[in-house]
Amino acid sequence: MRVHLINPSEVSFGTAVITPRWLYVLAAATPATFGDPCLVDETLEAVDPDQIQPGDIVGIGIHTANALRGYKIGTMARARGAYVVFGGIHATLYPNESHELGGAHVVVKGDGDVVWAKVLSDCSQGTPLHVYEGGRIEASEFLPARWDLVPRKSYMWASVQTVRGCPKHCSFCSVWRTDGQRPRQRGSDAVIEEIVQLRRLGFRFIALADDNFYPVTLTDISLAEAQHNTHRVNELKAIRAERFALMARLAQLPPDTIFFTQITMEAAEDTDFLDAMNAAHIKGALVGVESVTPAGLKDVYKEFNASGADLVEQLRTFRRHGVYVLGSFIFGLPSDRPETFQATALAAAQAEVAFAQFVTLTPYPGTVDFNRWEKDLGASPIQIGGVPITRRWLIPQGLRPKLYWTHPTMSAEEIRKNTQDVWDTFYSLKSVWLRSRFIKSMRARLAFVLISKIYRQMYADTGISTDSARVSRSAQWVRWLAKPCQRLFAAPEMPHLKLPEVWSASTSAKETSCELAN
Ligand code: SF4
Repeated sequence: MRVHLINPSEVSFGTAVITPRWLYVLAAATPATFGDPCLVDETLEAVDPDQIQPGDIVGIGIHTANALRGYKIGTMARARGAYVVFGGIHATLYPNESHELGGAHVVVKGDGDVVWAKVLSDCSQGTPLHVYEGGRIEASEFLPARWDLVPRKSYMWASVQTVRGCPKHCSFCSVWRTDGQRPRQRGSDAVIEEIVQLRRLGFRFIALADDNFYPVTLTDISLAEAQHNTHRVNELKAIRAERFALMARLAQLPPDTIFFTQITMEAAEDTDFLDAMNAAHIKGALVGVESVTPAGLKDVYKEFNASGADLVEQLRTFRRHGVYVLGSFIFGLPSDRPETFQATALAAAQAEVAFAQFVTLTPYPGTVDFNRWEKDLGASPIQIGGVPITRRWLIPQGLRPKLYWTHPTMSAEEIRKNTQDVWDTFYSLKSVWLRSRFIKSMRARLAFVLISKIYRQMYADTGISTDSARVSRSAQWVRWLAKPCQRLFAAPEMPHLKLPEVWSASTSAKETSCELAN
């Protein structure tokens, strides 16, 4: 009996940008008695069915975008006599679908870190349950990943998680509803050990794959203080202090280490935090800008974001403090008008974001937007290829619409075309080269240009293009560029790298500055 863990993907590039962390975490959760699991990331290469034998256990992790491919793999694995187990956000939201369409014997809902060993044990005894509730485990139970199993030369970035959950409640996002609004933050010891292991292996680019790296704002602390809620104030300050503790230790890593994370724009209020990020080599962050207008922010329940000139200033603050921004913008919001596209492109340029993504408003299961959309469509939504549009991920890839909302003033094609134009403008070679001016070394500048072009091909053409020839040219292009790009990202192994020293709260200037800021 062998355990297989499979990350489904319709497209394989041979080299991937980022490690799918869940594969290596569930590998760690697999008891030694089962041996090392066979890990398959289909963004590298497609699964080989001949490797799956009767009695094997096949774990498949799905999110909405790769659910259909996951179901094909599950059906194949079950036909070959394996036990099929589904997990991940999509399986948590739609467990019956995995059973009905994916050949699942088992669905694991919620976090898999702890419950996985029980699933394997039950399958090995021939008594698996239909559904296991993994729930939301505490941060102290998060498992460190088995990085000893990673094919080092196949990935540009490794991924480590430091916090799960986000206190916000954006209408298009499922994180706060699936991972919860209470930040579950790992202690710095556990995080730093994984990071040092990765650096020893030769990864110097590491994504901190967090829902929100800034889980406590200064405003949160001030509000709790105004309410004289001492317990809450202490709790929030402890979370904040742990962030600084982690960053102080990351700062001791070799200077060429680079981290990237995901954070809310509110962090611009907290320049101590940004300075600590810079010192900790956290040089880049995805910031959900979403819209450049107050009406657009209202559309997505994200009024805590700035707009207009304040927005530009806040994003520039990140850059002034050494944190380069990947700005994420949404098009197709009800308040958007034709002029919104150019205004957004201009704001992105003025704000000096290093990278940007321009996505069209899409209803994701588990979100407020999705529920509203599904309700609006009523009991008999239109069908495409025999599939109701409210189960859009089951529609064959080539037939899927590019947009799902009826906009009050613009046609779907108008939104799609304008979105594509903004991508094309932002990622023209001239614009990318100009944006790379802040980088001193030619090698690093070249890496910036390459990753910009790969990013654009991977996410723009495969996402919004309606031209299948263009999509396939893009995939080809990425395959061709990814290998040399991976070499630019690699670093020599550092087998003797020591763990950074433990940071002492009593000697921290940062805690003092937090007090002053309040
Ligand atoms: S979009 Fe970002 S800030 Fe909003 S709920 Fe999701 S993770 Fe939190």
